[in-house]
Amino acid sequence: MTASFGSDCSYRLYDRALKSLVGGVNSPVRADPRPTPAFVDHGDGAHVVDVDDNRYLDYIMGYGPLLLGHDLPDRVREAITKAVADGPMYGIPTDIEIELAEFVIDHVESVDRLRFVNSGTEATAAAVRLARGYTGRDKIVVMRGGYHGGHESFLVEGTAADRKPSSAGVPETFADETIPVPFNDEAAVREAFERHGSDIAAVLTEPLLGNHGIVHPVGGYHESLRNLCDDYGSLLIFDEVITGFRVGGLECAQGKYDIEPDLTTFAKIIGGGFPVGAIGGRAGIMQAFTPTGEVFESGTFNGHPVTMAAGLETLRFAKKHDVYTHVNELGERIRAGLQDIVEDHAPEYTVAGTDSMFKVLFTRSGSEATTDNCTAGCKQQLDCPRFERCPKTGADVETGETDRWKRTFWPAMAERDVLLTPNQFESQFIS
Ligand code: PMP
Repeated sequence: MTASFGSDCSYRLYDRALKSLVGGVNSPVRADPRPTPAFVDHGDGAHVVDVDDNRYLDYIMGYGPLLLGHDLPDRVREAITKAVADGPMYGIPTDIEIELAEFVIDHVESVDRLRFVNSGTEATAAAVRLARGYTGRDKIVVMRGGYHGGHESFLVEGTAADRKPSSAGVPETFADETIPVPFNDEAAVREAFERHGSDIAAVLTEPLLGNHGIVHPVGGYHESLRNLCDDYGSLLIFDEVITGFRVGGLECAQGKYDIEPDLTTFAKIIGGGFPVGAIGGRAGIMQAFTPTGEVFESGTFNGHPVTMAAGLETLRFAKKHDVYTHVNELGERIRAGLQDIVEDHAPEYTVAGTDSMFKVLFTRSGSEATTDNCTAGCKQQLDCPRFERCPKTGADVETGETDRWKRTFWPAMAERDVLLTPNQFESQFIS
């Protein structure tokens, strides 16, 4: 069936939603597919079906959480149903919180204590507060083009020398404490440390930029962050909200790249499709959170039993059934196929991605990296004769024809029943 945006039922729902929800949606990116966002009726395996009965192959996958697709295996579904039937939540500890924490600790080398929260944003905000409380310093270094959620500390744009809030409503003082540097630019981070080293509580980075095209770390970059943090007594925080339990399988991206951050933030997959976030790290740092320490963190829904059940059984299923081998093979196939198409029709464009993530970037420029310093771990990319075109910084992605994605590519794919994220920046996910 051919999708038609603005189809009757979606159109009517959007019209109605505009009268009760801001912009008709609950997260701005959902308003993007114009003229009318499709409203989903239900999911079905790797597909979603909208209220007008259009069926799409879904590469949004909830923006990452749905490792197993829309049909949950029986064991996962039963665990969720049982948690709901037992009583949805208590505000009192349950054993399932320990089980999920133990699963994460058993698989992620750098983590031996966890705190569960309810979103990626909560996790990154709390991780930064923890780093500040632990080190007694205020400044954080972030990557331009990195995304860590909608918290004041991260809504800052510009350069280390000239920065300002990126959203209305964020006081200028937040920009004083947040230093953006280009991803993959060791000299820029070094310079930030030389200027502000004794004030820097943490460097916060995604292991790969997953919300800004896909930008892979070049060889040695993470190691240089690790060394600088060690030299200056700052913490290295890996934001694995997207990559956690997707890139690098159960060891996460830090296992794939062989780096031990001091703190890690998780979300998405560890909640099995329910709202979740988590901060993990070494006990000595994590104990600085309340109740053992002085850094306040609290939440009515933290460690929600339904979420914990969904996350635990999702991860157990992924382990038992070797889900990562399967989705990563699919990832390789789609990247190879897209690469062939791009080579034939648009050689200046780039196919980026690794494991079960991919993105076509309409780039017309790139920077100087070579295959020697690629740590993407993605065969297509290492073999790619045009690797030098692969974006190395967030700014490289911005040189792409980002508008073209929205104007022509996204709708053309939707017409062919393939659902992609509506902008050039966010990754596609395979289930
Ligand atoms: N960090 C990263 C790397 C993310 O990709 C996201 C969301 N896409 C967040 C943090 C924020 O997570 P949430 O939307 O669950 O608040």
